[in-house]
Amino acid sequence: MRVDSARKWIRQNLPRLQKRFKLEDWELTVEVTKSIEDADGPLAKCHPNCDYQWAIIEVGTEDIQSDKELEMVLSHELLHCVLSPIDQIRDLMAESDNELAKSIFYRFYYSTIERTVRNLELILNLGIKSAKIV
Ligand SMILES: [Zn+2]
Repeated sequence: MRVDSARKWIRQNLPRLQKRFKLEDWELTVEVTKSIEDADGPLAKCHPNCDYQWAIIEVGTEDIQSDKELEMVLSHELLHCVLSPIDQIRDLMAESDNELAKSIFYRFYYSTIERTVRNLELILNLGIKSAKIV
């Protein structure tokens, strides 16, 4: 998908998705580029801030084929915003001096969050199949 087409679709549809996920009070910034930087080449990433209810969502369009797929990708990232109160536990753990506890926590934290987002996708029938969304 072209970057300008994705930007246009997002401008037109983000308010609807914010409403769907009860994120109307959030300030969402969606940065759209051809590809985003990550070793695994994900389609999108989300950096939510639960305390101040804002998020920066990065979307790379080169592997997104359609508006429907773009909606699925954005929906996945918005679910990360919905779950962001749990990030406060992660941020608290970051202050710990116990490196072993931190490494164990992080290992389970990221897989648990991702599994929970994917389960919510199934519950909400979003039809997301891509393993490249993180
Ligand atoms: Zn994810």
